[in-house]
Amino acid sequence: MSQFETVIGLEVHAQLKTDSKIFCGCSTQYGAPPNTNICPVCTGQPGVLPVLNRKAVSFLVTTGLALGCSINPRSLFARKQYFYPDLPKNYQISQYELPLAERGCVDIVVAGETKRIRVHRIHLEEDAGKLLHAIGARTLDYSLVDLNRTGVPLMEIVSEPDLRSPEEAVAYLTKLKSILEYLGVSDCDMEEGKFRCDANVSIRPVGQKELGTKAEIKNMNSFSGVRDAIAYEVERQKNIIASGGKIVQETRLWNADTKESHSMRSKEEAHDYRYFPDPDLVPIELDERYLDSLRKELPELPEARCARLVGVLGLSAYDAGVITAEKALADYYEEALKTAGGEPHGKTTTPDAAETSAAKMLANWTITELIGRLNTAGKTIVQSPVVPQHLGRLVFLVRTGALSGKMGKTVIEEMFISGRPPEEIIKEKGLVQISDETAIGKLCDEALTESPKAIEEYKAGKERALGALVGLVMKKSKGQANPAAVNKILKEKLS
Ligand code: ADP
Ligand code: MG
Ligand code: ZN
Repeated sequence: MSQFETVIGLEVHAQLKTDSKIFCGCSTQYGAPPNTNICPVCTGQPGVLPVLNRKAVSFLVTTGLALGCSINPRSLFARKQYFYPDLPKNYQISQYELPLAERGCVDIVVAGETKRIRVHRIHLEEDAGKLLHAIGARTLDYSLVDLNRTGVPLMEIVSEPDLRSPEEAVAYLTKLKSILEYLGVSDCDMEEGKFRCDANVSIRPVGQKELGTKAEIKNMNSFSGVRDAIAYEVERQKNIIASGGKIVQETRLWNADTKESHSMRSKEEAHDYRYFPDPDLVPIELDERYLDSLRKELPELPEARCARLVGVLGLSAYDAGVITAEKALADYYEEALKTAGGEPHGKTTTPDAAETSAAKMLANWTITELIGRLNTAGKTIVQSPVVPQHLGRLVFLVRTGALSGKMGKTVIEEMFISGRPPEEIIKEKGLVQISDETAIGKLCDEALTESPKAIEEYKAGKERALGALVGLVMKKSKGQANPAAVNKILKEKLS
């Protein structure tokens, strides 16, 4: 069955980071007691009128600009009718014919290759509430509704069917999430449902132009869930075709526990929703001045930041890519760099050697020492027990030779456990690197007196003998001597 090609289009719903809801003044705060952030507007009482949240519009337009979309100078709200207890008006206010933004793109890198994924459209809409089903126990056979989320602003970002594998889908979501975080338009917290994705999946024989019939998969709440759900769906469709069946267009629900999906409903068509322009809301009209002001405020995006870390700070493309993939990590790194000995902000000239090495060394310590430990501990960079200033100061001490790299690793181990500053741990453990030449010279003399054989071997041209002598001096200094200085002094004494 390998002659089939997978086709995926993603619909992402991201909650916009506004303080109040999209059409009323209720708070968007997550986790408030049920039905406390509600009012006549978001509970759909008769006679109320929606008033559009200006911030929600600017967040969406900012996203559109960042993804290279064209922004429609005039756009409309539409009513999308459906009947479900979490939607008290019995219609959702969304955008249909004229969305705010259209035709953008997201560049992803998969297996070292850059691929451009087209974004079909981005529109603004309101979220629905949440149902809690207390089914199971006989006495608890009912459902509860919490309308706190009703009317929270969402943007829906719809991709073209340009993705060809679960890996590409995950790369797209990762990149999109990173961009939204950089823009500060959404928290993108997947566990809180602030970044949700529906995957449309079909297969077709390689070489065929027309798209196959798609199934839409809902209810994935992690990137690995998206990957597994798509992989499962592709297998399911291949099996149907292999056994002579036909794919039916439907909506399926992913179950993360059983790692299976099941059919929820046959897919409704657009006309089932009976869309029509919402008569309660005037069209949104945006002028050039407004767009220009948002354009000017666009922050540095992941790709630009990555290029800057390579171009200005001299990081490798790999290190810069790892560090800038997540805004919080890039912020952490640049904060730490201030104490590590390099000042990244506003520099456009070539960095001097010391700055480059501070930046590179810090990148190294961040990636190998810090991220590794965070991953093992299941913590995010924001939860790091080591604050950026402390990591920066530790790297500064190692870079300037006050501490050996090996000692530094002992210190960070301790910093990670206790969150204490490096200086305190160094003092407590007596971990100071000896660079004083007289002190090292004395230890070298001792080592040479004790090892006449090593001296002979060295004179006979055996480089290895020097290593043994260095090791002896390091042992005498309890690992605190600066190895480079030991090397140099021993060589001088031997010659
Ligand atoms: P619907 O009206 O069912 O929501 P759309 O045409 O609006 O369908 O597309 C929704 C999403 O599905 C888009 O992301 C689009 O790229 C994707 N899509 C459309 N057709 C296919 C297909 N045959 N296979 C995979 N994805 C598809
Ligand atoms: Mg859809
Ligand atoms: Zn309200």
